[in-house]
Amino acid sequence: MFTQAMLSPRHPVLAHIVPVRRCNLACVYCNEYDNHSDPVPTSEMIRRIDRLAALGTTIITFSGGEPLLHPELEALIRTIRNHGIIATLITNGYLLNATRIKSLNEAGLDQLQLSIDNVTPDDVSQKSLKTVDRKLELLAQWAKFDVDVNCVVGASLCNPGEALTVARRAWSLGFNTIVGIIHDGSGQLLPLTDDQRKVLEAIMEGREPTFLSFTRYNPFQVNLARGMPNDWRCRGGSRYLYICENGLVHWCSQQRGKPGIPLLDYTREHLDREFKSIKPCARYCTIGCVHRVALLDSFREAPRETLARLFASRREPNAPTEMPLAVKLLTWLFLPPKQDGRRKMLTQLLTRGALRLFGLRR
Ligand code: SF4
Ligand code: SF4
Repeated sequence: MFTQAMLSPRHPVLAHIVPVRRCNLACVYCNEYDNHSDPVPTSEMIRRIDRLAALGTTIITFSGGEPLLHPELEALIRTIRNHGIIATLITNGYLLNATRIKSLNEAGLDQLQLSIDNVTPDDVSQKSLKTVDRKLELLAQWAKFDVDVNCVVGASLCNPGEALTVARRAWSLGFNTIVGIIHDGSGQLLPLTDDQRKVLEAIMEGREPTFLSFTRYNPFQVNLARGMPNDWRCRGGSRYLYICENGLVHWCSQQRGKPGIPLLDYTREHLDREFKSIKPCARYCTIGCVHRVALLDSFREAPRETLARLFASRREPNAPTEMPLAVKLLTWLFLPPKQDGRRKMLTQLLTRGALRLFGLRR
């Protein structure tokens, strides 16, 4: 994914696609579900997946509603994998059991993200550790795919400290965590309280850093936690696509109707146009997956500056960067200053070798 994203800005890196808008839960803050829609017919979903493949999409994620309500989700996952595309899934976890996890294994699912809002169910959300803890154990036991737990922090959730409890449980089972911030109906930041900010930072701090981990190094969330805007280019409609249940392409789940073009009619010209389009909602946007995709382009366009931003100290704005040793070494190898001719030759050789290793160049 990373290598392809570096080689070309003209394909979608990540597409979220909705196979069914219906959900088995009813979280108070959510505007992405109903309680009655039928699943999108499998043949139609396959047409959409084929179109995403033709556009060169690298990752396709099922979101909803609750995607596990689609009766032929595994067949859809197989279709994605047959195209050589990474298949991932966002779920509330309620419908998981050992049999379903094994069938997702067999279908070739690459990654699953399970979102948890609190420890015990309340009036706002039933996506609770108490109700899905057994599902987490089953995932730890049977899943052959990666599991990420999204620990949600936000205005409408009563006890911010519960997100940390959720994160600790996820870590104890060996899962990765990400922190989601609840947004308003257009994707914008709802101001966090001091307690919520501290919890968000504690979860980002809590894990040992892994190489290029967005969990730990996420400048977008650091700024948002402080109530500060982000200066970035959202590539919704281009590098990131949101495909609703009606098969229309939107910038994201919170900006429907822009551009609102059927996926089957979506072309590279649309991708190019939206790559350049300015999104007025960008400054206080909380949509983490679109931030992460934008970081790839930012890295492709200005690698040294992006790394400096990525690893900037979170504690004090002007303190030295916290770049891990491995990243320092790779920066030295692959991003030499322009005047260093010998290192440039070494870089070219290493780059060619890496591209061959990934099967992207003979
Ligand atoms: S489980 Fe997810 S899709 Fe369903 S209502 Fe809650 S947030 Fe929305
Ligand atoms: S900046 Fe992009 S991802 Fe964020 S709300 Fe706007 S269109 Fe959606």
